[in-house]
Amino acid sequence: MKNMQTSGSIVVIAEHFEGEIRPITYELVHFAETLQQFSPAPIKILVLDERAETLAKSLARTTGKDVLGLRAPQLAQYNGQVYTSILHEILRDHPPLYVCIGHSSRGSDYAPGLAMRLKAACITGVSALSVQEDMICFSRDVYGGKINADMVSNTETTVLTVQPGSYGPAPDRDLPKGNVCLKSMTVSPQTSTTLSTTPFQTSDLDFSAARVIVSAGRGIGEEENLELIRDLASVIPQSVVCGSRPVIDLGWLTYDRQIGVTGATVTPDLYLACGISGAAQHVSGMKGSGFIVAINTDPMAAIFNLSDICIVEDLKTFIPVLLEALSNKR
Ligand SMILES: Cc1cc2nc3c(=O)[nH]c(=O)nc-3n(C[C@H](O)[C@H](O)[C@H](O)COP(=O)(O)OP(=O)(O)OC[C@H]3O[C@@H](n4cnc5c(N)ncnc54)[C@H](O)[C@@H]3O)c2cc1C
Repeated sequence: MKNMQTSGSIVVIAEHFEGEIRPITYELVHFAETLQQFSPAPIKILVLDERAETLAKSLARTTGKDVLGLRAPQLAQYNGQVYTSILHEILRDHPPLYVCIGHSSRGSDYAPGLAMRLKAACITGVSALSVQEDMICFSRDVYGGKINADMVSNTETTVLTVQPGSYGPAPDRDLPKGNVCLKSMTVSPQTSTTLSTTPFQTSDLDFSAARVIVSAGRGIGEEENLELIRDLASVIPQSVVCGSRPVIDLGWLTYDRQIGVTGATVTPDLYLACGISGAAQHVSGMKGSGFIVAINTDPMAAIFNLSDICIVEDLKTFIPVLLEALSNKR
């Protein structure tokens, strides 16, 4: 394919680092497919890189979507101005309906500037979408998760940044691979140059593979009681241990395990909240869980308002009993 038009399409901007596609890219594809159900339009992926060919081919194979690889020597290192300039040049003559970007540090860096140059609305931190009165509404948290706002766009093109963890990757399917188109870009001199980049904090955690999250809150009382939480996770397949911010601030768990507005957003099948009060900043990161079980000594704890099962009990009493019941069952 010689050219690839983006007019009237849903465009996903791939995120990558050190030759690897970042998981948020696959979430964006899943988000775009959900959006496509309300706004039927072809999905195109754009990947920007010094060479772009390998990444573009890999994306076309794994997602089944058409991929446009945009290459320029200035893309050897990420630079927000270069991204904005290239994307503006590609998209201005063939305006897409939507541009989907990760709500990551990079996405937050270039999405607003791109929206401004495209004269597009920019809705950031989107965690869900719905249709109300024939309008597509994008939900995002405001005031640190205390309020959920539904927003609509009034412009031809809308730039969206999507909260990581809100959608998960698209389900596995056998798809024919998409077309790949490569285009070399000329970038005019920018006012900033990236000298170096520091790798992301690496983590062995894969939230998308975790079907169960066992989460510890300040109510565990002491670091030693984390063992109870780990014991519980160890008997539940595909589970990981996470926590609320106080547990991370105390250094009992590492930051990559923090759930909430300043941590990860997760959507497991089952979320077990152990000694967590349900503050808005925590709930913001786990309210999309399939089934929520909370253990708390306080019957008035806010976490119970969104729990499917509410256990009013001391977790140090309840978890050993649960572990024994589970081991008898096995
Ligand atoms: C800007 C900002 C960003 C923030 N970001 C985040 C974030 O990303 N994630 C996050 O989690 N928080 C975040 N917070 C903090 C948030 O406001 C809450 O303070 C925090 O979530 C409370 O954590 P918790 O529920 O573990 O602790 P607490 O609110 O202290 O609740 C502990 C709970 O444990 C119960 N309990 C006590 N003992 C037991 C027991 N033995 N058995 C069972 N239950 C027991 C208590 O009844 C209580 O409900 C943020 C705050 C701000 C201001």
